Amino acid sequence: MTVDVLIAGAGPNGLMLACELSLGGVRPIVLERLPDNTKENRANGLVGQVVRALDRRGLYERLSGGAEPPRPSPAFVFGALPLELSRLDDNPMYGLAVPQRRVEQVLEERARELGVEILRGHELTGLAQDEDGVTVEIAGPEGPYTLRTRFLVGADGGHSRVRKLCGIGFPGVTRDGSVSIGAHVTVPAELVDAATGGLNVPGYGLIPPFMHHRTDHGLFVYAPFPTGTLVNTTEWNRDGGGDRPPTLDELRESVRRVLGADLPLGPPEGDGPHLLRRLSGGNTRLAERFRDRRVLLAGDAAHVHSAIGGPGLNLGLQDVVNLGWKLAAEIRGWAPPGLLDTYETERRPAAERVVMHTQAQSALIAPGPEVTALRVLFTELLRDERTIKHIADMMSGADIRYDLGGDHPLAGRPAPDLTLETETGPVRLAELTRAARPLLLNLTPDAAPAAALDGALEGWRDRVDLVTGKADRDAPAALLVRPDCYVAWASDSPRLDEKERDALRAALTAAFGAPSGTSSGAGG
Ligand SMILES: Cc1cc2nc3c(=O)[nH]c(=O)nc-3n(C[C@H](O)[C@H](O)[C@H](O)COP(=O)(O)OP(=O)(O)OC[C@H]3O[C@@H](n4cnc5c(N)ncnc54)[C@H](O)[C@@H]3O)c2cc1C
Repeated sequence: MTVDVLIAGAGPNGLMLACELSLGGVRPIVLERLPDNTKENRANGLVGQVVRALDRRGLYERLSGGAEPPRPSPAFVFGALPLELSRLDDNPMYGLAVPQRRVEQVLEERARELGVEILRGHELTGLAQDEDGVTVEIAGPEGPYTLRTRFLVGADGGHSRVRKLCGIGFPGVTRDGSVSIGAHVTVPAELVDAATGGLNVPGYGLIPPFMHHRTDHGLFVYAPFPTGTLVNTTEWNRDGGGDRPPTLDELRESVRRVLGADLPLGPPEGDGPHLLRRLSGGNTRLAERFRDRRVLLAGDAAHVHSAIGGPGLNLGLQDVVNLGWKLAAEIRGWAPPGLLDTYETERRPAAERVVMHTQAQSALIAPGPEVTALRVLFTELLRDERTIKHIADMMSGADIRYDLGGDHPLAGRPAPDLTLETETGPVRLAELTRAARPLLLNLTPDAAPAAALDGALEGWRDRVDLVTGKADRDAPAALLVRPDCYVAWASDSPRLDEKERDALRAALTAAFGAPSGTSSGAGG
């Protein structure tokens, strides 16, 4: 038996990729070496455009537990400097405080609903590829076996076995000397500031919640999540103690060094699982290639960086939303030549940008008078709304522009957050994209453009859906939206003249292959 796609790793990125492939009409199998769901606490939240990406697949509601669509966050931090996002008219920074374990649970539940097979306790141990596929060696609960697959995706984390077996280098830097201690704790209720929710540390002062707080001696975070209060410190130039779990006393001592004051921390309440973690040093690395013939890398297997500002899942989950429909198209036979390679050309720059801004933030939180001076300068720069917008666009990933041709300002950009007034009532674009089908949107209320767009779709109707609805705000007359919700083509003209029609058909061909009925078309 040959499987279409094997995914190594049932972390968030492997599971999300499995969902995307299933929506694209391909059934992957996911191999996960751990026999049970992990109890490890990693991410505490999702930050950036990933929140919109999950909304577009109907997953935001499951994660937030409410029916409201996502709203941008009024505030965030860059390198422990406050970002006043509420001052922006077009704030791109979305956030959702949800533990990674819950993200994985929801994605696994969705993957299973879509019919994905997840094999727990099955570890990929070897691979060999030829022109037609990859033979994968697996250590399963009942012993070793092999599976043959057309494509293999390594979503197997920062230490990726798949990446190593393919001989793909992972250049970058390892930072030593920093030690970060994080724990679920309780703090005396009288220290919590009723007005701000911050923490009044006796002998130090008020520390706002959910913000990195830098002192001359390190970094302090107080985060009273609904699932438990988290306190985290980071110090530099210390002997790390490896990744040995710390004690609560060690956290108290670290807080004393960082803040120069005592904070009476108590053990956490409730059943847990509770976090008590020490991280020493850190890596910033980017895979030399994201693809080796029939093997692709996604998520932490392709890039690792500091967790400052929580960019990991924003990057990784958007990688797999980019990859899923392209790989499905390749397998189903309608991908235009080179489409799969655009996974790397589009996503590597996004990863490079995350590497850049996490390193920049690491520099801004480091100790030393020069850094303090740099922070004074940055604080001045952050009074300017344009700087806030620039940083918010960068951190959220809203500044990404893929090279999709076309001279419309929206071409290659994330589709705007529109609501369409359709014949059956208002519908958010995010609700229209749940099936991950390409969409051609006619945003004028007239029948003539709809007929013209429908005519231009001849040969792609099997792959692309036409939707008509008046947009609730300033929008182009028509938009072609890829399954990952990036704009492949846009037009401001309500009439589709010949030039526009040719441009639309060129964009359709570039993204979704030749029209059916032609020799290389999908044929339905
Ligand atoms: C302390 C910390 C805090 C973080 N905070 C945030 C945050 O707030 N927000 C955020 O967005 N990101 C955060 N991140 C980053 C985020 O956790 C990672 O980016 C994310 O886990 C990457 O997901 P992944 O699916 O690529 O890899 P992983 O989560 O590492 O999953 C890989 C999976 O592959 C499995 N596997 C490995 N090898 C094999 C094999 N040979 N065969 C089969 N299975 C295999 C592993 O068991 C694992 O389940 C944080 C990370 C850390 C360490």
